[in-house]
Amino acid sequence: MRPHVIVNVAMSADGKLSTRERRQVKISGVQDFNRVDRLKAGSDAVMVGIGTVLADDPSLTVKAEECRLNRLNRGVDMHPVRIIVDSNARIPPDAKVLHKEPGKRIIVVSKKADCAKVAEMKSLATVIIAGEDRVDLVQMMDELGKMGIQRVMVEGGGTLIDGLVAADLVDEIYTFIGNMVIGGKDAPTLADGEGFIREAEFCKLTLLEAHKIEQGMLLHWNVDHKP
Ligand code: NAP
Repeated sequence: MRPHVIVNVAMSADGKLSTRERRQVKISGVQDFNRVDRLKAGSDAVMVGIGTVLADDPSLTVKAEECRLNRLNRGVDMHPVRIIVDSNARIPPDAKVLHKEPGKRIIVVSKKADCAKVAEMKSLATVIIAGEDRVDLVQMMDELGKMGIQRVMVEGGGTLIDGLVAADLVDEIYTFIGNMVIGGKDAPTLADGEGFIREAEFCKLTLLEAHKIEQGMLLHWNVDHKP
């Protein structure tokens, strides 16, 4: 069975995930940071696209001691499995996500990825090959399901999220909207691929929850799957 997929992003009031230079910015505060940490701790895996690894070099670990202990008490690793979607095996071997703290890592590549780089990665992570030129996200989710991963939190960025939304693989979306305008037509947004053209193709959402957190607003959406 395919995993349940939850997207979480923080965006500015004008819908930008970072600056036009793709520089990471602080959009939310401590309260929202803790919410995201709990969401991550409640997931089997946390996933990002290679663009986010190259731009932000995140570690994707659970930060709060309490959340880590809860996971250990549940009999699972301290950190969820860290998954990087990287068709061409571009991940730098010294990326934080591959080294910081113990835990399992999965790198998903396409058949086009350089064999030598894939071999190198196998010493640092489990490698899944899915798709010809680009990672086939449906095949990837099927593989993750077979590995027992039931709940995946996607931390971005906009290109990967767009691919997942277009393939109707997302079940829930959390958007934290922060109190600033970042601007820039080239700054990343929640879904940065080609976009849908016809209204019938739009990814429709049902609002489950909306509440103020510090100086921003958290929206929790359910994705209405296509028939
Ligand atoms: P991204 O979404 O993290 O990664 C995109 C890359 O994933 C693609 O370029 C592609 O590279 C790979 N990919 C492989 N298969 C794919 C598929 N089927 N569909 C889509 N992508 C696929 O990168 P991004 O859009 O450049 O986002 C990075 C920016 O977002 C940074 O500025 C970062 O700071 C920001 N960000 C913000 C938040 C937030 O919550 N505010 C969260 C995360 C990131 P290959 O073709 O090489 O595989």
